[in-house]
Amino acid sequence: MRKALITGITGQDGAYLSRFLLQRGYAVHGLLRRSASADVIGERLRWLGVIDDVVLHDGNLTDLSSAVRVVREIQPDEVYNLGAQSFVHASWQQPLLTGTVTGMGAVNVLEALRLECPTARFYQASSSEMFGKIQQEIQTERTPFYPRSPYAAAKLYAHWMTINYRESFGLHTSCGILFNHESPLRGIEFVTRKITDAVARIKLGTAREVKLGNIHAKRDWGHAADYVRAMWMMLQQDKPDDYVVATGRSTSIEEFCGMAFGYVGLDWHEFVKTDSHLLRPAEVEVLHGDAGKAREKLGWTPAIKLEDMVAEMVEADLQRHRARSTVVMPGIADLGKVAH
Ligand code: NDP
Ligand code: GDP
Repeated sequence: MRKALITGITGQDGAYLSRFLLQRGYAVHGLLRRSASADVIGERLRWLGVIDDVVLHDGNLTDLSSAVRVVREIQPDEVYNLGAQSFVHASWQQPLLTGTVTGMGAVNVLEALRLECPTARFYQASSSEMFGKIQQEIQTERTPFYPRSPYAAAKLYAHWMTINYRESFGLHTSCGILFNHESPLRGIEFVTRKITDAVARIKLGTAREVKLGNIHAKRDWGHAADYVRAMWMMLQQDKPDDYVVATGRSTSIEEFCGMAFGYVGLDWHEFVKTDSHLLRPAEVEVLHGDAGKAREKLGWTPAIKLEDMVAEMVEADLQRHRARSTVVMPGIADLGKVAH
């Protein structure tokens, strides 16, 4: 039985990747950071019905000794480094933490592998945010990077360190430069989920509006379930490499609002307000990827259309809010009370 170790297993991608790997017969292990809210921390794994099938190990990306201990114990065949402070907006408020977790955290895992399990294959969750102020209209693996946030700068450090460990020590390390990908398990603070959550509350009569920042920004949005498949495909290659993963379709926040409100028969113009406090100090205006290399070398193509994903997300939020009106219990959507 092949063994996989996932950092960030409690996040959106960690949950989808766990389910994907379990379906393929892997023993799935995850690094779990200690939390006082341990009862809700496995919410996404629970939602996908896999919480009882994964093995969770206490540890933190900022703590080299815990990475070393967990790698030594498990001796994984594949390691997926998905753990990060992943919210761009928060990275200006916590730049050092973002650098430590999102940047240096990756190097802690690489070091643990170099010392304890150098034959393991390693995946780094790189990001289209590294393209930032885009240098080419359509971004590929050859497009120069221009990070626009502490998050993107931290990701770029981890990206180059992953390549450096490949070139310096011969480790099998690959980077997936993934464009935005969403799902019903997306964090509530990200714009897609913030919108679908608001649509559900407005439809059910518990909210009247939603405040957004720059609604003209455009993103190349895919579905997390499709994107975790690409991660796995990268580690099945004989040679490690770096790949862009994207749908090739770029859509504005306004258009996304149109789809999400339209799904429940509402006109978004009546409910979306803009708030200058939600604008970012430096914006990534547009992202648009070309996943030609992943298509040719891995045989990867996305299966889920944006319209179908929007419908799935709105339906899931309607379900959550209907359940909440009958049972009083906290869910991940309640975290949306924080101002983003
Ligand atoms: P999430 O924010 O949903 O998940 C992040 C995970 O990292 C959580 O499990 C979180 O744990 C964990 N984590 C945070 N800090 C630490 C720490 N100090 N030690 C150990 N674990 C920690 O992200 P996604 O699932 O959406 O994304 C997965 C990865 O892919 C991230 O690295 C992200 O930056 C990157 N990425 C994501 C894209 C997207 O569109 N989703 C696009 C490109 C890259 P906890 O549950 O305790 O908070
Ligand atoms: P990101 O691409 O990783 O930063 O993902 P987000 O979902 O956080 O943001 C995507 C885009 O939506 C960015 O250009 C944001 O500026 C824009 N946006 C507009 N309004 C909001 C908002 O209220 N919240 C968030 N998170 N993003 C917003």
